[in-house]
Amino acid sequence: MGGKLSTKGKNKKQKKTKTTSAPKNSSKSDEEKCYSPGDPTLQFVDGEDEMDFLYIGYKSLRAKMSCGHAVTPMSLTDHCRRLLDDEGVCRFVCGKCDAEWSFEEVSKMALLTPEEVEEFEKKLFINAARDLLDVKECPGCKSRVVRNDLNDLSVECTECTARERTTYMFCWQCLKKWKGPVPRSDHCDNDGCQSPLEILKNCEDVVLSSVTGVTGCPSIRACPTCGMLVVHDGTKCKNIGCTQCKVEFCFVCLKITTECLKLNPQSWYKVCSTGVAPRQTSIPVWQIS
Ligand SMILES: [Zn+2]
Ligand SMILES: [Zn+2]
Ligand SMILES: [Zn+2]
Ligand SMILES: [Zn+2]
Ligand SMILES: [Zn+2]
Repeated sequence: MGGKLSTKGKNKKQKKTKTTSAPKNSSKSDEEKCYSPGDPTLQFVDGEDEMDFLYIGYKSLRAKMSCGHAVTPMSLTDHCRRLLDDEGVCRFVCGKCDAEWSFEEVSKMALLTPEEVEEFEKKLFINAARDLLDVKECPGCKSRVVRNDLNDLSVECTECTARERTTYMFCWQCLKKWKGPVPRSDHCDNDGCQSPLEILKNCEDVVLSSVTGVTGCPSIRACPTCGMLVVHDGTKCKNIGCTQCKVEFCFVCLKITTECLKLNPQSWYKVCSTGVAPRQTSIPVWQIS
């Protein structure tokens, strides 16, 4: 069973009362980042700091975001860090109106330091990677759904269930409307719904027509970095770039390309010294640090 993942304004009601914890490591120094009053690129406004949900009372001038809400560099930094840490977002939204802000706008308006830019980029990446693994699109309504039970492939979409007034389940593996009994951990009854392990075990061999010395190489491999299944069509060199994690790996020895090339210099079209790696019997799990 799954639930709709909502990252937008989920705890809007709590924000006003959430006064207990001070913002986590809000600044390396105690100094408040302030707008320079002469900055012609900012639109200053009087009144409340509308992102100061913890009532800290920053002293800086207030400036308008693209959505029209007023922020100070510190309140905006706090708000965005909270979105990254507590809500696991991969994009920034206004805490008042849910308008989306670009990373460029946030960096500029929050006067992010180079360290903060690095921190925010890293957290955005981690959150996006986590989404790739734990969030899928419902085939019925395209909303993002999280899976709660990792051993059950049948997942309910609460949006579709509400709309159709009957439980709507889809298959986490083949992403089609669920067919067959529940719960199930291997596959549903839709044609072609196979677990990645069955695919790795049963897929055909590929003929790498430009690579010498390779026989018995399966046509589908799990990316050694992130575990996504990748198909080699037999053309060009033995290395292939994974579309999910963007890391290139050697289809023959299953090392990432840089490591394979270190062991086997200039071997794009030659078998690796360690030979053809056997069919995989487990799927690498993306280590998100
Ligand atoms: Zn706004
Ligand atoms: Zn749905
Ligand atoms: Zn299925
Ligand atoms: Zn990958
Ligand atoms: Zn190799």
